[in-house]
Amino acid sequence: MLGLLGAAALPLPAFAQARARVVVVGGGFGGATCARALHRAGLAVTLVEANPAYVACPLSNAVVAGLRDMDAQTFGYDTLRREGLAVVVERAVGIDPQGRTVTLEGGGRLPYDRLVLAPGIDLNFGAVPGYDEAAAVAMPHAWKAGPQTVLLRDRLRAMPDGGTVVMAVPANPYRCPPGPYERASLIAHYLKTHKPRSKLIVLDAKDVFSKQRLFQAAWAELYPGLIEWVPQSSGGTVTAVEPASGTLVTDFERHTADVANVIPPQRAGAIAVAAGVADRSGWCPIDPVSFESRLQPNIHVIGDAAIAGAMPKSAFSANAQARVCAAAVASLLRGEAPQLPKLINTCYSLVAPDYGISVAGVYRAADGRLVDVEGAGGTSPPDAAPAVRAQEAAYAEAWFRTVTADVFG
Ligand code: FAD
Repeated sequence: MLGLLGAAALPLPAFAQARARVVVVGGGFGGATCARALHRAGLAVTLVEANPAYVACPLSNAVVAGLRDMDAQTFGYDTLRREGLAVVVERAVGIDPQGRTVTLEGGGRLPYDRLVLAPGIDLNFGAVPGYDEAAAVAMPHAWKAGPQTVLLRDRLRAMPDGGTVVMAVPANPYRCPPGPYERASLIAHYLKTHKPRSKLIVLDAKDVFSKQRLFQAAWAELYPGLIEWVPQSSGGTVTAVEPASGTLVTDFERHTADVANVIPPQRAGAIAVAAGVADRSGWCPIDPVSFESRLQPNIHVIGDAAIAGAMPKSAFSANAQARVCAAAVASLLRGEAPQLPKLINTCYSLVAPDYGISVAGVYRAADGRLVDVEGAGGTSPPDAAPAVRAQEAAYAEAWFRTVTADVFG
């Protein structure tokens, strides 16, 4: 089990500890977990993070729906510093894989023996014609938690009853496969509660999605007639946007929104491209045992930026991959082969405040990629009693408390 790959399993001989320098870029669920595990194993680690505080995406859809405060999503790095971990709050702007150095925005350079990149995603502005950074003000994505989350929440609050909310959802792969549908559910909850004459149109660039049966059954039960989901085969793919008029264009129709939420296609954070570890897909191919890049030696990539086979891009996955990667880096620095990993992911989604559903999977390395362990994992039962749904909603909150305490607490 993954939990066994904790700090206690990573002893390093003193000579290796003294020599090895590890730099981790990105202090999110992946990077902060990895840096902490490496530091606890006795390695000299520097964590480089662009922002002084981290704003978590999980449960941010509840903020959008007015059910939760931003404060509950925000975490600092003080505990990591108190533990003795070197945290540098500065953007990494360049990587020299041959010289093994990271260049910081202010011009400083950090040498490394092993580098872990966990930069998360960048939004692929320009992939949907008309959707650029300026358009994200008129049509927030809220796919990186922070001011965008608040912007979308406030747009919904300001919308008159009887308005139309339109969401655009990208094709795979993207951060948090069930996230758009959780968002649709919680926006529907907000509309039903506060603006019952309004409606929500979800324009989707695909025909199937994560936990689809569970989501659609819940929508029929809780929000009848409120959500219109338009799959790719019915013209759901948004081909352009016109921010000035709030219009989303598809091959079949033009939709004018009172509130538009455009979740654009994504790619690995820019520093991964600068390091030469992203391929033409925009994501980073890795070895599934060590998370070492397939394109550059001594650089490991974890979390959303990595191509992790069957594992979805989730905070749960990033946290799990970080532990495996830390163990692998420690082994490699000792001159040993990393252990074969087993990784777990569970993604909870809230359909309403007291209605949660989940999907879980177990993964192993096979044929150079991470694959599902057959028969392990699954989704919430389709016909569960309300008490079971309420319990899963409570589990979602408990998971968030546990993982954020593990990463930042
Ligand atoms: P991130 O958490 O994005 O961290 C990357 C960090 O790197 C950031 O702090 C960034 O500032 C930093 N960074 C980037 N570039 C640089 C640079 N050049 N220099 C220095 N620092 C840099 N996952 C779940 O498991 N459960 C959920 O319920 C869930 N719900 C979600 C809901 C929504 C609406 C969304 C959008 C996502 C959700 N996710 C959920 C997904 C989850 O947020 C991501 O999968 C997770 O954050 C990925 O972790 P990461 O470490 O790869 O990237």
